[in-house]
Amino acid sequence: MNGYFDHNATTTLHHAARDAWLRASEKHWHNPSSLYRDAGLASQQLESARERLGTLIGADAERIVFTSGATESNNALFASLPAGAVVVISAIEHPSVREAARGRNVVELPVNAAGVVAADELQQLITAKRPALVSVMAANNESGALQPWHEMAAVCREHGVLFHTDAAQWLGKLDAANLGECDFITGSAHKFGGSKGCGFLVLPQEDSRLGFIRGGPQEHGRRAGTENYPAIEAMVTALETITPRLSETEHTQSNLRDAFIEAMRARFNPLRVISESAPRLWNTVLMVMPEHDNLKWLTRLSRRGFSISTGSACSSGKEGSSVVVTALGASAEELKRVVRISSGWDTTAADWQALAVAFVEVFEELNRGGRPQ
Ligand code: PMP
Repeated sequence: MNGYFDHNATTTLHHAARDAWLRASEKHWHNPSSLYRDAGLASQQLESARERLGTLIGADAERIVFTSGATESNNALFASLPAGAVVVISAIEHPSVREAARGRNVVELPVNAAGVVAADELQQLITAKRPALVSVMAANNESGALQPWHEMAAVCREHGVLFHTDAAQWLGKLDAANLGECDFITGSAHKFGGSKGCGFLVLPQEDSRLGFIRGGPQEHGRRAGTENYPAIEAMVTALETITPRLSETEHTQSNLRDAFIEAMRARFNPLRVISESAPRLWNTVLMVMPEHDNLKWLTRLSRRGFSISTGSACSSGKEGSSVVVTALGASAEELKRVVRISSGWDTTAADWQALAVAFVEVFEELNRGGRPQ
């Protein structure tokens, strides 16, 4: 039984990524900027990984800058905007966007009752505020709700406004071939079987404004520091390996997820599933339990071998705070009962069933006053 249900926080290293990392570390460990033959080979491999990633996400390779992950990518982007620049961000962005946008003139796009960004308000907002950038995530990390990034990118293009999507949760879960239509794209390897501390930012063609990490001329002067080629190779290999199976995974896994919700509903009433009516990632359930604090659920499930989360692990370490549920206007009391379940590519029906059984056992334990049987 695999009780790991926190894939939106991080994933295990995919075996293909591990093999690729080892091969790259053993064979091409040289500094890609050095001038001898072996370094040149490492540099060629690095550029080939950039090309392969470009193919997967529908963006020219020259637009891709490798970074240490999504947090750096988001910070680098916002740091490139002048202080006071008008930026539109959604009400449910990850803290690495919300915090990085501080110091700019931030206008928030609200979400509807299903936790989906109100795309129809964008046009009016653009006309009224003339933003330098619109930033809306592709899929929400807490609820899994898919956001209308495609539609919003088109509206922005029509008005000559730059559009950014934080695709950290979309990549590796849904097909990414059209993401390149966005001017800026954020990605993070450890969300889809790559290693931690590796990611990328896609820029518009010819955009060389990034100067967030200064030093050497790596990444065409856009991000200094010796490239982590083995981690980059592992990241691209992970994405290449899982992409062909994505539609099958989506079909199988969303059915398992929905069966879990049904099993939970049979036992817990009321059980509010956030963004249930919206198109969602196939792996995510964000739910408000009818009773008991989420930390009690989390610790008791953990003792039984299940790893879940209380909203987002990144909400400033404050367990129980959920950006999404707050944006939906929940009470403080409701916020304390939010739990997030996020399955993986190989989660089985038996894993989901075992989780539902564990929820019932924990409920009985909590109702007995917290004493294990
Ligand atoms: N954006 C989103 C939507 C995320 O889910 C996360 C990870 N929780 C991040 C950014 C930060 O990613 P990283 O760990 O690569 O900095």
